[in-house]
Amino acid sequence: MSFPLVSNKRIKTSIDAIIASNRLPHAVIIEGDVGTGKRTLARYLAKVAVCGEKNPPCDSCRNCHLANALTHPDIETVSPEEKKANITKGQIEALRTTAYHSAHTAKRRVFIVHDAHTMNPASQNLLLKVLEEPPSDVLFILITTSASLLLETIVSRCIVFSLFAPSFEESLQYLTSACNIPSDEAAALLKEENNNIGKALLRQQDEGDSQGRAVAHDFFDAIEKASPLSAMLYTVPLEKDRNETMKFAEEMSEILIAKIKNTGHLPETAREFIKMYDALCQLTPTLYTNINLSLFFTSLASKMSEAKNK
Ligand SMILES: [Zn+2]
Repeated sequence: MSFPLVSNKRIKTSIDAIIASNRLPHAVIIEGDVGTGKRTLARYLAKVAVCGEKNPPCDSCRNCHLANALTHPDIETVSPEEKKANITKGQIEALRTTAYHSAHTAKRRVFIVHDAHTMNPASQNLLLKVLEEPPSDVLFILITTSASLLLETIVSRCIVFSLFAPSFEESLQYLTSACNIPSDEAAALLKEENNNIGKALLRQQDEGDSQGRAVAHDFFDAIEKASPLSAMLYTVPLEKDRNETMKFAEEMSEILIAKIKNTGHLPETAREFIKMYDALCQLTPTLYTNINLSLFFTSLASKMSEAKNK
C-alpha cells in the first residue's frame, strides 16, 4: 500500500526507513493542524505495526483487513469520553494494564491516543511510566495539535512526526485525481479552507448535504428580485431546524461578502450588500438564544429588502 498522505515527503522517508530496518519505535507523536491527516497517518502506522508480512502494510493479510475495517483487536483507541473534555486517569490506567497483555492476533499491540493533550499532568505522568519501561511489543501513537502541549518527558521518549499542509498545487492535484472533484470546485474549496484538504473535504460533504446552504441561495435570489414573500416561502422547511438555520446564516454571510467584494467598483450597489450584511450580522447572534426561527427569517427578509430598496 502506498503512503497515504499528500506531500509530507520527509515523514514518508523516515517511515520507509523504519519499515526497511524493521525497527518500529515504541512511541510516536503525530502533531498537526486539523485536517492535515493525523488520523490517516496513525491508521497507516498501526497497520504497519500489525501486518505480519515482510514489507508492511501488505493490505492483503488478515491483520491488514481487520485494521482497514477498524476492527483489529490489537489496535485500541483512547479519546476523551463523550461529554468529557479530558482523557481521564482511569482511561490511562486501563491502557496501562492492557499494554502488558500479549497481543491477540498480531505481533504487536497498538494504542492510538487521540487528543493526547487533553490528558492532565497526572495522567501524562502515568502514561510516562509505561513509556519509560515499554512492553516490547507495543506501539503508542499520540495524536495532538502540537507536541508542545505535552510534558517534555513524554515528548523526549517519542519520535515526533509534524504534519504540514501540502502546497496548493499538491492539494488541488489530490482533490481532483484521488477524490474526483472537478478542478474549479476543488480550487474554490481549498481557497475557502486555507488549503486544508481535510477541511475542504468536510466542507464539500457539508455543502452537498446542507439544505440550509441551498435555501440561502434561493432566499438571496428572491430578495434580489424584490420578492421577500417568496424568500420567506423557501425558509419554511428550516423553521424547525436550528442547525440548518445556522448553516443558512453562514452561507448567506459568504454570499454577501462575495457580492460586496465583486461590486467594490460600484459603490451604490456595494452599499446595498453592506447593509444586507449588517442586518445579517445583527440578527445572527439571536440564533444562539431561544428566538423563534420563523421570526428570524421574517426579520431578515424585511431588513434585507429594506437595504435593497434604499
Ligand atoms: Zn498485511
